[in-house]
This record gives sequence, structure tokens and C-alpha cells, in this order.
Amino acid sequence: MFENNSANTFVITLSYKYRIMAIKITDECINCGACEPECPNTAIYEGNVEWTWGGGTALKEFEKDGKKVNGEDLQEPVSDEFYYIVTDKCTECTGFHDEPQCAAVCPVDCCVPDTDAVETEEELIAKKKWLHGE
Ligand code: SF4
Ligand code: SF4
Repeated sequence: MFENNSANTFVITLSYKYRIMAIKITDECINCGACEPECPNTAIYEGNVEWTWGGGTALKEFEKDGKKVNGEDLQEPVSDEFYYIVTDKCTECTGFHDEPQCAAVCPVDCCVPDTDAVETEEELIAKKKWLHGE
């Protein structure tokens, strides 16, 4: 049973700190566009703009969830109002930068950890290799 004492609080704080998540953009976005060119994976797109797997990556033709995908196929926008991040292309900048570049440049701090997309460091490294072929 959970007890709310300082030792448990310390453990919970530590485990939260070392969980790694993709980044998402909240509806506080002011559509300034500053984050888009900073992403090493081209995971950020303007609202209502279609995205591609191949944009900014080495993905050409591959299978995903049992389906053949062409990297140039246009995909449905995730948001029609705000800049958005394609979760499956976000690696938290692993292999390129020490911190998420979108969050670093966002003037209103609306690039935040996506608690629905928790990944380990190993998974992020593997994702980066898959996206870029290296
Ligand atoms: S954290 Fe890095 S990889 Fe993810 S969307 Fe932001 S800039 Fe792109
Ligand atoms: S930098 Fe921030 S405010 Fe500007 S488009 Fe990106 S998420 Fe929106």
C-alpha cells in the first residue's frame, strides 16, 4: 500500500524524472512556426498540413502495422488548428541534441512531454536508427 512519506515522494520524483516521453504541442500554440525547422526528424508540421514518413528521414518503402507504406504518401494532419508533432517521428531529439529543440525555442512553452508516449532511451535510439537508417 502506498504511504505518502518523504522517501516515497523521493522515489516517485526520481522515476518521473527518468521516464522519457515524446513531445506534444498543446492548444496554447500561437502558430509562430519557430519549432518546425529545428526538428531533426521533421516530426513537426503546420496545422492542416499533411505529413509524410519520408520528410526529413531515410524512410522510403517499409511495412508498418502489417501495411506497406511509401515514405512519400501524404498522411492526415494531426491538428487542423495548431502546429503538431507526429509522435512516431519524435525521438526527443535523441542522437542529435541533448534536449528537445522544439521545447527549447518555443516562446510560450507549449511543447511538453506526452505522457501517453513514454519510451525508454533504448527505444528512442532504435527509433532514431529506424528513421534515419543509421
Ligand atoms: S523533441 Fe526533437 S524530435 Fe521531437 S518533435 Fe521536438 S524537435 Fe522534433
Ligand atoms: S514554437 Fe511553440 S508556439 Fe511556435 S509553432 Fe511551435 S509549438 Fe507553436
